[in-house]
Amino acid sequence: MPFLLLLFFAAVFLASPGKVAGEERSFRAEVLPKSVKQGEVCLLKAGGPVSLKSVYGEFQGKRYPLGSGDKDQTYEGLLGVDLNTKPEKYDIRFIATDGSGKDDSQTFSIKVTKADFAVQKITLPKSMVDLDPKTLERVNRESKRLKEIFQTFRDERTWKGAFIRPVAGELSGAFGTRRIINGQPKSSHTGVDLRAEEGTPVLASNSGRVALVDDLFFSGKSVILDHGWGLYSMYFHLSETRVREGDQIPKGAELGRVGSTGRSTGPHLHWGIILNGARVDPFSLLRSTTSLQ
Ligand SMILES: [Zn+2]
Repeated sequence: MPFLLLLFFAAVFLASPGKVAGEERSFRAEVLPKSVKQGEVCLLKAGGPVSLKSVYGEFQGKRYPLGSGDKDQTYEGLLGVDLNTKPEKYDIRFIATDGSGKDDSQTFSIKVTKADFAVQKITLPKSMVDLDPKTLERVNRESKRLKEIFQTFRDERTWKGAFIRPVAGELSGAFGTRRIINGQPKSSHTGVDLRAEEGTPVLASNSGRVALVDDLFFSGKSVILDHGWGLYSMYFHLSETRVREGDQIPKGAELGRVGSTGRSTGPHLHWGIILNGARVDPFSLLRSTTSLQ
């Protein structure tokens, strides 16, 4: 092809973004923000001149569904970037099906940048770190159960609008902190610790179904909520729990009280979020959903 002709085609192509072969797009999509740090959440938005039968984003081989937003023909969903995601550019592909069953897709790129996770040195009693065989067996059993919960993808969304902070307390343990316990490097801190007085009510961050109520070795008395679409919130080290597995819980309902059960050095709430298998910063989820109704 002659060079000038090639330039001409390039110019025509560049001048018509959002169009496929001269045809109007059946939907438009957006990723907010386009650059995130490891462990952060993105808001996915879509909308169209016609209502869509379904729309979802695809990121690293996983599906992130979008559901009805606050206005007609708008759709919203959340995407989580795990804290160990390699910092580089990634594609997010949106696939939409309109009422007549016609598919359309659009691809965006997002940039994942390196998060500056802190390093924290903690000293704990030897019995809480060097586990005897019986305790180790318990810990393995419990972690297997947690893994099974987080791998369950419920197709129905039960969260709606902005997420809320479960207790008002100040941050005493940041997300992603690399922990060195009694001189040995351990796994990262995959939630946030909120300082609060023993007995402070712990509220549900959003509506959902209670997936677990148990007393676990590391996390003590714990509640896990399943908000649908692979989104889970965790509330650990409680002094008591006030819900039962299987309960449907509205946003803001009391799940239990702040305590220091399990492996904990004082009363606080450990609040964690898992989104489609990605361990993300709960504060990033709050920021991403503040605009939602
Ligand atoms: Zn914690």
